[in-house]
Amino acid sequence: RPIDGQNTSHMGFAEQRFTTAVDEEFRCPICRDVLDEPITAQCEHVFCRACIHEWLSREQSCPVGRQPLKVHHLQDVTRFFRNYYTKLEICCDFADSGCQFVAKVDEIKAHENQCPFNPDVKTECPNGCTAMVTKKELSAHDCVQYLKNIIADKNAEISRMSDRESDYKRKLLDFQITIKTKNSEINYLNECLFERRNQTSDKGSVIIPSTSRPTASDNKQRIPCGRHRNQRLPEPYHRV
Ligand SMILES: [Zn+2]
Ligand SMILES: [Zn+2]
Ligand SMILES: [Zn+2]
Ligand SMILES: [Zn+2]
Repeated sequence: RPIDGQNTSHMGFAEQRFTTAVDEEFRCPICRDVLDEPITAQCEHVFCRACIHEWLSREQSCPVGRQPLKVHHLQDVTRFFRNYYTKLEICCDFADSGCQFVAKVDEIKAHENQCPFNPDVKTECPNGCTAMVTKKELSAHDCVQYLKNIIADKNAEISRMSDRESDYKRKLLDFQITIKTKNSEINYLNECLFERRNQTSDKGSVIIPSTSRPTASDNKQRIPCGRHRNQRLPEPYHRV
């Protein structure tokens, strides 16, 4: 019977799961089962990690010798102890469901966490709908509903994408209109420049491009073309 009289059966390993008889030194004094993640204290008693942590949450002494004991006194078992302990071989916890896997005692949990007989492990639906379901969920699982949900998700994705596409199309149209407007502005300015060149060459003057800024007196000499009397001439040009 467990020392603290509480139900701690989930903590150690049941002895009948082992392939050989288990020595008394590998039993936990708290749950009386075979040690799970053994841990020790200065008094050298060895416990399941979960059992002693649960005990020390209520008591401040060793459950066997009653010496003062706190969580920070707990330490790993010796390498000697561990070498013997890890030679123990144990059957999978789901052997009753059909699993025949046997492993070293410190490796069995890694297997059980992904054992296909574990009712909490997700596996692909046996009917081929590609859903990942646990054994528990399988009875309530509906392949048709699962596939309908996938189709609904895909349709939502398609409608999001077509929204984005029409958004891009609208922006492209705006951009094309802007380019058209800018082009006609450029044409207009070119016409204006051409007209002005004709006017000045009639009077025998020459217009040359210049990178230097026009002076105030240059500005006074400018004669805007007929259509743009109130508009400034493009900056890189000034008369000499
Ligand atoms: Zn225990
Ligand atoms: Zn002790
Ligand atoms: Zn298994
Ligand atoms: Zn299915």
